[in-house]
Amino acid sequence: MKRGCIFAAVLLLAAGLFYLFAGGGAESPREAAGENFRLGTYVRLRLVGDDKKFLEKELAAADAEIVRLEALFSANIASSDISRVNRAGGEWVKVGPETADLIKRSLAIAAETDGAFDPAIGRVVRLWGIGTSAARVPDEPEIRAALRGGGYKNVKVREEDGESYVKAPDGLWLDLGAIAKGRVADILKERLVSDGVRGAIIDLGGNLALIGSSPDGRPWRLGLQHPHKQRGEYFGVVNVSDGSVVTSGPYERFFERDGVRYHHIFDPATGYPAKSDLDSVSIIDADSTRADALCTALFVMGRARAEKFLEKNTDLAAVLVLASGDKVLVTPAAREIFELTDKKFTVEVIGGGA
Ligand code: FAD
Ligand code: MG
Repeated sequence: MKRGCIFAAVLLLAAGLFYLFAGGGAESPREAAGENFRLGTYVRLRLVGDDKKFLEKELAAADAEIVRLEALFSANIASSDISRVNRAGGEWVKVGPETADLIKRSLAIAAETDGAFDPAIGRVVRLWGIGTSAARVPDEPEIRAALRGGGYKNVKVREEDGESYVKAPDGLWLDLGAIAKGRVADILKERLVSDGVRGAIIDLGGNLALIGSSPDGRPWRLGLQHPHKQRGEYFGVVNVSDGSVVTSGPYERFFERDGVRYHHIFDPATGYPAKSDLDSVSIIDADSTRADALCTALFVMGRARAEKFLEKNTDLAAVLVLASGDKVLVTPAAREIFELTDKKFTVEVIGGGA
């Protein structure tokens, strides 16, 4: 995604937030907004409240926090916790508590999704270089070599004397690209709420987290990007209060070679871009970290496995677009909040209670 989806979302939200403060009568709307290139994407923050100076201070602090977290979690920054683990040749490496926590959560979600989400995918990601100027189609032996580390089950975390340590086998590289934006969104939201920010849109290029709800008590209306249309064109709308909306799909980062499209979401079982019969997966959940990782996992799983997973996880609000281009699958939890706007699709309810 997702810039289009987010753009549409922000437009809708901005109107709502304006109403919130203009409608109150006493105060004119005050907000602070900024856009920066962070986490390999465009990050847009919009804070709303009564005191512009306070909001500007919070905005600057939030951006500094993103920079701090990126310096821990990025596989592209040589000094990050993740890069130090990747270069340690199989030795234990001391990492910050936030990194240890995120790796532990990643390993738990990897187990829960039977490896469809796998934070140990780093060498495969680097080998293909999708989204970089070095993108290429590797040959089989290279792919086998990139899978040599054996996946997430071989990554260990231990705590000792209040410190955290991580160990990955020599040759196995971690990459938290499919979960870290969700975690950063959750951390920012927690911090802004505890500082007293009443309204915010945290848009981390595909991970949207919201603070506050619409002034008339109704949820915000957010557009979900149409996988085959221009950015900003959506196929449906979700009505969300104070939550998070995350989308994963193959249409944002890819390259084409000899008429074949290669995208950035890999099947950890093969080392190739996942051959999914889904075009996009959106999850709406209070927990943006889990939503981020599960969007990627469900996309990799494809329809049949994703449906089984959703039958076991009936709490999840998920919206899946089939690659056949004619159908949208929604879970019962999503059915409550999803409205189809593109009538070329039909909607089928899946998962427990369908
Ligand atoms: P998602 O589906 O959420 O994630 C896909 C990404 O996760 C892939 O790009 C890959 O990195 C990884 N991945 C692929 N398949 C799997 C799988 N099966 N299981 C687990 N993970 C998988 N981009 C840059 O171009 N340059 C940067 O310097 C850069 N730095 C970043 C630093 C951080 C801390 C983060 C979180 C992201 C960074 N990115 C950077 C962006 C990143 O490479 C991904 O493109 C982005 O996170 C993809 O997010 P998504 O929502 O599109 O897709
Ligand atoms: Mg993800």
